[in-house]
Order: sequence, then C-alpha cells, then structure tokens
Amino acid sequence: MAKKNIRKTNPVAKYKVRYVNPQKQYQDHKKEFLKTVDGVFSRGDLIMRKDLEDFEKKIAGMVGVKHAIGVNSGTDALSLSMEAAGIKEGDEVIVSGYTVMMSVSAIVHQKATPVLVDCQSDYNIDPGEIEKAITPKTKAIEVVHMHGRVCDMDRIMEIAKNHKLIVIEDAARALGAKYKTENGQWKMAGSFGLSGCFSMYPFKVLGAFGDAGAITTNDDETARKLRMLRYNGEDRETRVFYAHGRTALMDNLQAALLNVKIKYFPGWLARRRQIAKVYHKGLAGIDGVSIPKFEDSRYKDCWQNYGIRAQRRDELVDYLDKNGIEVLTEWKIPAHRQPVMMPNNISLPVTESICAESVLLPMYPELNDSQIEYVCKTLRRFYDCVPGITRVAGKKISRR
Ligand SMILES: *Cc1c(COP(=O)(O)O)cnc(C)c1O
Repeated sequence: MAKKNIRKTNPVAKYKVRYVNPQKQYQDHKKEFLKTVDGVFSRGDLIMRKDLEDFEKKIAGMVGVKHAIGVNSGTDALSLSMEAAGIKEGDEVIVSGYTVMMSVSAIVHQKATPVLVDCQSDYNIDPGEIEKAITPKTKAIEVVHMHGRVCDMDRIMEIAKNHKLIVIEDAARALGAKYKTENGQWKMAGSFGLSGCFSMYPFKVLGAFGDAGAITTNDDETARKLRMLRYNGEDRETRVFYAHGRTALMDNLQAALLNVKIKYFPGWLARRRQIAKVYHKGLAGIDGVSIPKFEDSRYKDCWQNYGIRAQRRDELVDYLDKNGIEVLTEWKIPAHRQPVMMPNNISLPVTESICAESVLLPMYPELNDSQIEYVCKTLRRFYDCVPGITRVAGKKISRR
C-alpha cells in the first residue's frame, strides 16, 4: 500500500488514472458521511460507544466468527494478537517473506524471532517451506493473505495441528476473501486461525478516513485479553488492571463512518471482482506480463490489489507514469533485504523474483471501464514497442 509519507496535499491531477481515489468515494456518499460525523460530534460519542459495538458485530458477522475487536490499525491488530497468543522472547514465528514489514514487526514487538520463508507464485506463503522451517522453538505461523487471496489453509491448518502451532492470520488485505475447504465449506479470511487481523487503512478494501483495524476470533479468552490490551490493560467492567496494555482503540468516529461504508461493501466487492475480470481479459496474452491465476475454484479473492508480474518492470512503470497511469511497485526492496533486518543470510528466490517484477495496477470500485481499458491498452503498447522483446514471424520472442 502507499504508506504514510507526509505530503502537503494530494498531488495535482497529473494522472488520468490514479492508483487510489478516496475523493471519488467521498463525493459519491458525501451527505451520508457528513451526517454521520455531525451525529457523532453532536452526541459526543467519541470513545467506546455504540458505533464501535455495531461495527464489531458487523465485522464478526461478515467473517463468520464470535468476536471482532476494533483497534486503531492493522499493525496493532497483529501486535496485540501476538501478545494475546502468548508469543514471547525465545519463540520463533514463521511468516511469509513476501509481505509488508509490519507483518514482521508484530513478531519483533514481542521480542520473538521472525522466521521468513518463501512464497509461491500466487504471492502466498508456501506450505512446504513452512514445514522445512519448523524447529523446537517454533510457536506460531503468521499467514498473510496477500493481495486479497486466502492462503492454502487446508494444508497450513494441518501442519499447525500436527506440530501444535498457533495460527495468526494477517488478513489486512483480505476482508471478504473466501476459501473452499476440503470438506466443501466456504470460509472467510480471518476465521481460520486463533485470530485474524484486518486493516482499515484508507486504501484497503474497507478503508476508514484514517488509521483503523480489527481483530476477529472465535476464542472467548483471546477476545477478553484483546479487549483489555487495546485499552490500557484494564477490564472495563470491573475497572481492574490485568495487563500493561496500549492505547490502541478504534475511534468511535471511524467506526461510525465504517458502518456507513459497510452497507456498500458487498457492491464494492462485486465491482472489484468485475474489474479483475476486465483486466484479466485486457491483459491476456501479452508476452512479458503474467497475470493472476483465475482458474482455481477453491478461491474467491476480494481483489485488494490486481498484481501483475512484468518484465522490464521499471521501464514499464516509467512509461505508465508518462501516460498518466499511477501504479505501485511492491516491493523494490524485499523485507529480508531491508536495513532493519540486517545482517542475515536469508535467501528467498521466489519472493526476490516477484519483487523484481511486481506492479500493482489501479484497483478500486470507483474505476470505470474505460479507465481500465486505457491501462490495458497502454500496457500492451509498451510491450509492442519495447526493445529486447522482438517480433519474429508474428510471434514475440523475449530476449531477457
Ligand atoms: C496494510 C497492511 C498491514 C498494516 O496495516 P495498518 O493498518 O497500515 O497498520 C499489515 N499487513 C498487511 C499485509 C497489510 O497490507
């Protein structure tokens, strides 16, 4: 995601197709949002009020779990989940190397050791690599449902069961994503592990007007701990402190605004899936580009991102930019190569090759079809004239 680098204001409208466009969504529902803000401010309902409770019920219902706990970010959702699960110094937690740093930081916050393993071509953690990384110190697996696709949870839950490991889901990008289990049951991201961690960062599938997040769980004791940890460690009913907690509550205002957005969420999800299909069609058969796989009927993605792998990635990104298309490169430097992770001798070949080629295209429900077609057309034009990918007898040969 485009993270929190401070800018004076939104860059001028240099782009024909922005990577994200929160203004459009605001304009589309302005009256309702402003009425909601006015209601919250007029009632003085700022902290831990009914809007938050309603939001939690809605999220729990959507994910199909007993509890949802509103917190102030996806990162805190992960950190508090690690803490509630009892992850501590000396423990190892296996996590996918193809992820945002925050997935890793949550483990480090507990003074535990993150063990980064490689991902598969669908950007998700490779279950075979999880098995190889297990040691007597392994306590948990943190799966990251990347770009809105659920990980291979049948295999991962099996591994966790065999080795008595806790599973924590980084579902920051996966609200609404589904996975069909071996017994034919569809389950939502965030309903498999001990807890599921969501981000409502503005540009996630369900984004607030600022930082926000949520944790889902079926475990009563975990829910009780999380409710204390997010609010200074105090049991709010007895006013007794059982932990050194944080101030990590979701604002009631954000919850109220999210409750408005949740009404539109099913329609937005459907539109994202439609957009993915338009991209899929428009980008099929370009030599030098590989698009996400669609054929696997076990997955129903929520399409947080439409990620492609592109040869000559950096040139392509420049070309798109010059043609008014804003995209995101994730990640120029993989997590395990970042200064904060040094020194290490970790080698993650699949992660590294994805990071050298990955481009995330504009993806939000407010995109219109002609914008998507313009993106596809521009991409195709780049590969039609790029030097090094040469046409031979009507067929393009890549000379990489
Ligand atoms: C966005 C994101 C996070 C962090 O969420 P914040 O709300 O920004 O703290 C964690 N993991 C993944 C995979 C994310 O995409």
